[in-house]
Amino acid sequence: MGEINSGIWEESPLYRNAVLQLNEAGSTMHLDPNVLERLKRPKRALVVSVPIRLDDGAIAVFEGYRVQHNMTLGPGKGGIRYHQDVNLSEVAGLAMLMTFKCSLVGLPLGGAKGGIRVDPNLLSRQEKQALTRRYTTEINMIIGPDRDIPAPDVGTDAQTMAWMMDTFSQERGYAIPGVVTGKPVEIGGSLGRAESTGRGVVYTIVQAYQKLGMNLGPSTTVSVHGFGKVGAVAAEEMEMLGCKVVAVSDVSGGYYNKNGIKIRELTQYLAKNRTMVGFPGAEPITNDELIALKVDIFIPAAIDGVIHGDNVNRVSAKVIAEGANGPITADAHKVLVDKGVLIIPDILCNAGGVIVSYFEWVQGLQNFFWSENEVNDKLKATMIPAFDRVWSCMEKYKIRDMKTAALITGVERLKKAMLLRGLFP
Ligand code: GLU
Repeated sequence: MGEINSGIWEESPLYRNAVLQLNEAGSTMHLDPNVLERLKRPKRALVVSVPIRLDDGAIAVFEGYRVQHNMTLGPGKGGIRYHQDVNLSEVAGLAMLMTFKCSLVGLPLGGAKGGIRVDPNLLSRQEKQALTRRYTTEINMIIGPDRDIPAPDVGTDAQTMAWMMDTFSQERGYAIPGVVTGKPVEIGGSLGRAESTGRGVVYTIVQAYQKLGMNLGPSTTVSVHGFGKVGAVAAEEMEMLGCKVVAVSDVSGGYYNKNGIKIRELTQYLAKNRTMVGFPGAEPITNDELIALKVDIFIPAAIDGVIHGDNVNRVSAKVIAEGANGPITADAHKVLVDKGVLIIPDILCNAGGVIVSYFEWVQGLQNFFWSENEVNDKLKATMIPAFDRVWSCMEKYKIRDMKTAALITGVERLKKAMLLRGLFP
């Protein structure tokens, strides 16, 4: 990391991995070094203190962030993460990935990300609401429908976005739904937004199989790490395509059934019991065992860095679809690519979420809302050409690494826009 002389950004492995991957793309595409240097640092970052009164009357102060990495193509776009490990550097790395994701799939949006260093599972609903409202107030001068539009990410959901929208609107005096996406449908959200990331993951898998000349069917085995907003939908969609989802996991551990887990039954069990523990349709395994399962398709859909130097040699999937952001570290990625594993990279694989966020923003600006079928058709019509552009890029540069190809494709579009707009002053 000698290339960066500013220490504050480098703290997190996610940021360092993002820069390593950017360097790799930059050298493959012979990127103008001025552009490369600029892209390694965010445009601006805001760090805020978020004090809230806890239910027991005590005051707790949390640290919050909003980082805008690049806004050349349009307003900043990216989720808000509530997690105990969040820090400025990680948020900066995630904001960088959003820049390349939005550019790659052709959206008129820049890249941003936000977060609060907090374990939301330890807060009551009231405490979470207070946290969200105070955080929104603290960052309100840099967000807005034309400036920067937050959305859900790890640890946040449609309710969080409803509180953000309400807080921002209360401060202005009228309803401003366009300030966030991923809202509940009742207050201007889009049909299909909640499922969009998981659906998009599956569209990219289908497309990858088509390119490889292989068929998805009853003999195709799938494992999903992280049965949450992304993983659960992806598992259900894979099952609907006739594949066998043999293992899934969440914070409580992994669950395995060699004949395939009935995903609908699991979802119903989870809704009723709030945990997968005790689900009769699968046997418990550890998350480590799940990562090492011999399957055709592995979908890491939880958090970053789950496949790393120490466990990469146990991974034996043929295709890995990165539902999460940064689930494979740069060193592990190299090992897998050398082994011939096809990795559908996060900025392509999980772009369905931000694509439908964009649709939500557009629908809100026009006050004209689409049917779920229309949303899904447009999602597919955006993702498949993006996948094809990445595939052609791999062929053009004669590389087998889809991550580098995706970054090159995203950076290529952005670079042209940056050079056209020029350097101010
Ligand atoms: N948090 C999601 C992501 O990482 C969605 C962002 C958005 O919809 O703006 O892509």
